[in-house]
Order: sequence, then structure tokens, then C-alpha cells
Amino acid sequence: MAFTTTVVGSFPRSRELIDATKRHAKGEVKQAELDRLLEGATKSIIAQEEEAGVEVITDGEQRRSSFVSFVGDKIPGFKVMHITQLNADAMEILKRNKVQLTYMRAVIAEELEDSVIAADEFKAARKYSKRPFKVTLPAPYLVMWESWHSKLSKAAYPTPEDFAYAYAKLLRKEVLRLKEAGVSFIQIDEPMLGDLTEAGDKPDRYRRVFNELYGQEYRGFKQELKLAVDLLNEVTKGVDGVRLGVHMDRWPNKDSPYFDLGYERFLPELLETKADQFVLEYTSPGTGDPAKLVKEFPEKMEIGLGVVSVQDYEVESPGTIVSRVKRVIGSIEPERIWLNPDCGFAPGMFRTFPTDVAFAKLKSMTKAAEMLRKEYA
Ligand SMILES: [Zn+2]
Repeated sequence: MAFTTTVVGSFPRSRELIDATKRHAKGEVKQAELDRLLEGATKSIIAQEEEAGVEVITDGEQRRSSFVSFVGDKIPGFKVMHITQLNADAMEILKRNKVQLTYMRAVIAEELEDSVIAADEFKAARKYSKRPFKVTLPAPYLVMWESWHSKLSKAAYPTPEDFAYAYAKLLRKEVLRLKEAGVSFIQIDEPMLGDLTEAGDKPDRYRRVFNELYGQEYRGFKQELKLAVDLLNEVTKGVDGVRLGVHMDRWPNKDSPYFDLGYERFLPELLETKADQFVLEYTSPGTGDPAKLVKEFPEKMEIGLGVVSVQDYEVESPGTIVSRVKRVIGSIEPERIWLNPDCGFAPGMFRTFPTDVAFAKLKSMTKAAEMLRKEYA
């Protein structure tokens, strides 16, 4: 089908769910009560996605603390720590670099053990819809930068790469479990690679921050890119029969020499990735031209085009979304163009975004897809 609509993953958590999660951590709310709220939240998000007309849906990541740190709750070997335990000056470092990170960090402390990461969430969600499901997983290159600490992780994994390849092998097992369970689309989240669009001879601000907080070293632009792609391929090696996507963020910075450039900076290495689709953020000014990128795609590769903002509360009109999609029409066939928001609406559970605005944006997106099908399909 042309112009298939989907979401990137997360939706805002209700105030009630956030409060209950906090009180559960203090022992004031029983597990059964929290489970009941999580079940209700999942059911409600799925019903709203169906109502908005989204074709490939997610569970809204209601059960995750954040799109990345939740692996620390799932896989034995991680230790969840406050950011100031990694570096006493953490708050000052974040402020100086204008970077926001979640305060609770999953740091690798012991050898990893194979464990279910998301297949349990999928089992809990699938009973609420017959539509195809997307499930998201954090990429190994991302989790390496987020988790390997030069002092705390060295005994378990001497280098960040040792850890990243071990995690990639576990992630591949989870991909196979999800495929077996009937997931249609597995999306591997790689914002850390996306942020590399702002790096060159010098690291971008995220890698600068992780260098200060975790003691990891920047390898240089090409080496970082190659490592990220090689790790992705370790995850998807020999996997078929399920759509595999890679999601990247792009936060252009007006003062940067890379403003107006996009993921095309990663060519040709990026196209060595064994994936079916790149799910990309494209609505911010300065993100670059998606036509430049898709023109270089191999024959069957798809784009998940970011067509609604997850920063801006103003609901885009279907006409605005159609004009965003027109940027790539003529450069790639309509069947290979998917429509999605730029990113998840609430990648971390405390991220606020009005739920009604999120679903109004999705309705506008599915309306735009209908208009595009009339014109092009
Ligand atoms: Zn994103």
C-alpha cells in the first residue's frame, strides 16, 4: 500500500499512571494496582490509535521508564543509578552543553544475561487490536554510549565495543522472539547515530557529554558511523520475514556548520545497514532534504518520513502534511513512503505532551495519507 501510516512508538503517560509509578517505587502502591493501570493505559492508547486511523500501531510504550533506560529494568547486568553518581558535576555538565538526559541511568555493571525485553509487552498489547503492531528496541550503538562507564563497566566488559557486541547478540535473540510472536514491524531506535549528523572532526554535544559523564572517547566521524552500522547488522543478521526499521532523530542547531544538512552525511556507509526502512525526523528547519537521501536508497528500501512535529503543540493541517510528503514524491515510489510523526510523543515517562494534541496530529496525518492516495496511488 502507498503512504502507510504508523507512529514512532511512545505516547504520553497519564498523570494517574505517573503518580502511581512514583508511589509504587516508594512501596505505597501495590504491584497489582500498578498492573491494572498499565493495562488500562495500553488499552486506551491502542483504541485512540485505531480511532485516529493509524494502520501500524504500537502499545504506546506505557510500561517503559524511557525508550532506552527500560532495558536496565529488563536485562540482568545493568545497574540503575542517578546521574550524579556517575559524575558529581553532572548537572553542571548538562547545563554547559545544553543537553537534557534522564537522571536515572542504566549503567552496565555485570555480564549481561539473555532476557525477554519487549515480547512480554507485545503479548499484553496484541489482544486489544487486530492491526499490525510495531515494537521498538534501543540500538546497541545507542546503549553503548548510554551505559558503558570507564570505571564501573570495565570489569564486566573491558571496552565499550565488547559490551555493545554482547548487547547486539542479545537484541538479535529478542528480534527473533518478537518475529515469532507475530510482530509486523521491529524498529531499532538509534538517536545517538542521528545526533552524529552534528559531529565532524570534533564530537557533537551528546558525545561530549557522554565523554565527561562516562569517560568514553570519540572515535572520529567515519569510525563512529561504521561502528553503529556494524552493530545494527549484528542485530539483523540473517533475520527475515519481519519488517526491520531504524529510527534516527535530527535536532538541527542554527549555529552549527551542519545546519541544513541531514542524514545524507552518512552516505554511502548508512546504506550498508541491513534494514527495510529508515524512520526519520524531518519537520524541523535545517534538517536537510529527504529527496537527496531517498534517491540513493537501494531498490526496496523504504522511508518512514517524519511529517508531524512532536515538539510543537500546533496541529498541522492535512494540507501541510501533504506538502511535506511531496518533497520526496518523484524520488521514491509511493509504496515505499510511510508517514509517521518525527519521533515518539513521550520517549521518557515524565515527558509532557498533550494527549489530545498527539491524536489530533495523527488524525491529520491519516487524512493526508488518504488525500495522497487519491492523487498518486
Ligand atoms: Zn526519535
